[in-house]
Amino acid sequence: MSALKKNGETYDPRYIKAVNAENCIGCGRCYKVCGQEVFNLVERADLDMDDDDYEDEGAMVMSVANDGNCIGCEACSRVCPKNCHEFERAA
Ligand code: SF4
Ligand code: SF4
Repeated sequence: MSALKKNGETYDPRYIKAVNAENCIGCGRCYKVCGQEVFNLVERADLDMDDDDYEDEGAMVMSVANDGNCIGCEACSRVCPKNCHEFERAA
């Protein structure tokens, strides 16, 4: 699926699929840069992960809350220091 730039050219967007919660340090950079309210910072314990690996109770991690809002700009990936974001093309 192609999307249109302002100048009328097309591009092939890749949309957010997931955040790798094991690598995420909860820095919030992707949350701040995304203008589409896709992300939500949650407690790591709320993700139903195996907490044995994480001694820091209350540690925060980024989650994808509204993937349908994503416009495929990939800005989130460019600011992430841990390369957490996975993308997919529209079906
Ligand atoms: S690709 Fe763009 S719109 Fe989609 S989640 Fe990342 S920053 Fe937000
Ligand atoms: S920028 Fe990367 S490390 Fe920081 S909160 Fe987002 S996914 Fe996690």
